[in-house]
Amino acid sequence: MATQTKDYYSTLGVKKAATSDEIRKAFRKLARKYHPDVNPNDKKSEEKFKEISEANDVLSDEKKRKIYDQLGFYSDNIDPAAAEAAARGGYGGGGFAGGGARPGARGGQEVPFDFGGFDFSGFQGGGRGRGGAQEPASSGFGGSFKDIFGGMFSGGQKARGSRPGTDLEYQVSVDFWSAVRGGVARLDIQRQETCPTCKGKSTTGGSSECPECTGTGQVTQMGGRMKFNIQCPRCNGTGKVQSGCAICDGEGVVTRREPLEFRIKAGTRDGQRIRLAGKGNAGTDGGSAGDLFLIVKVGTHPVFARVGDDIHVTVPVTMTEAALGAKIEVPTIDTHDGGGRTQLKIPPGTQTGQKLRLREKGVPSALREGLRGDEIVEVKIVVPKVQDERSKEILRELAKLNPEDPRAELLAEV
Ligand SMILES: [Zn+2]
Ligand SMILES: [Zn+2]
Repeated sequence: MATQTKDYYSTLGVKKAATSDEIRKAFRKLARKYHPDVNPNDKKSEEKFKEISEANDVLSDEKKRKIYDQLGFYSDNIDPAAAEAAARGGYGGGGFAGGGARPGARGGQEVPFDFGGFDFSGFQGGGRGRGGAQEPASSGFGGSFKDIFGGMFSGGQKARGSRPGTDLEYQVSVDFWSAVRGGVARLDIQRQETCPTCKGKSTTGGSSECPECTGTGQVTQMGGRMKFNIQCPRCNGTGKVQSGCAICDGEGVVTRREPLEFRIKAGTRDGQRIRLAGKGNAGTDGGSAGDLFLIVKVGTHPVFARVGDDIHVTVPVTMTEAALGAKIEVPTIDTHDGGGRTQLKIPPGTQTGQKLRLREKGVPSALREGLRGDEIVEVKIVVPKVQDERSKEILRELAKLNPEDPRAELLAEV
């Protein structure tokens, strides 16, 4: 049988016979662990904190705890006398109907149960012992009770009031140069804004007839063969509900598409997360807004490759430049000095694939002010395509003067 009854004792991790002192200590210990202040933006902890708070609320109150122990659940709408009677199995037969437990007899206090509405036909309640006081009523009588209340009090009313807004995450493409030098990026985002009509309160103030009880303030519930009236949980017995805001359909927020402009810091890296505090979804009724997270996707460049704050570039060098050494011009990401190029000294005897480092010609660091990465120049030797006899003769002569075999070492290793 489906039951939504909550085990408050195990929620707090205490025995059923726990003293109020033990309950208080157990709650404090758990509250310290799951308090929202300690776990910001952690929905699971928030949920857990609600659970332990609810358990503590009932178990730390002697009267509430007694009802809970008797029935296996607790609600403010339960009359203690009814719980007592249920636990004792006292509803048996017709004895009840004429008994002194009619709510009207008990001095003005608001008693949600209308026992007059009970239909006892076929109810088999007699003969239950006092053991029911310790056991949550889980069979016979209690079974139907629990089912009714499980459904009634957990999901009845639409959650309204102050709620924080959720975070948003967007991927944003930033071109190579904006990421290197900084700039402004634009993006259309869809976010929930505070409803301008109800100012996030979900209602415009007017009230209308409660649809749950059609204005009577009472609803009739069937439990097995029993029928009884209870205070309407939707309107708390008032028969009226606040009319929801028509603009936001009572949500307190409206979804809007809006263009967003934001600064890209020089040195922004691919995959970097930018947090725009308070730019996420709006909260309702005074709840704080969530944050907007932008995940940066940095574009590529045909010449420059970025590795962190370093710039990698492959530069062709002639055989002669590589052999004799030379001063060559290489491209850099700087345009303000030297028009995007700088001098690089190629040492004599440079081999293809060799990497030369230009210190602090890389990307400015977004993390540490004043720091820059390096530019790494990879040398690629270009062999001359000789056509004429004179050039070929010179190369043959050069080979004769330099008879070393570049593959000697390689072949020796095999
Ligand atoms: Zn609204
Ligand atoms: Zn109602």
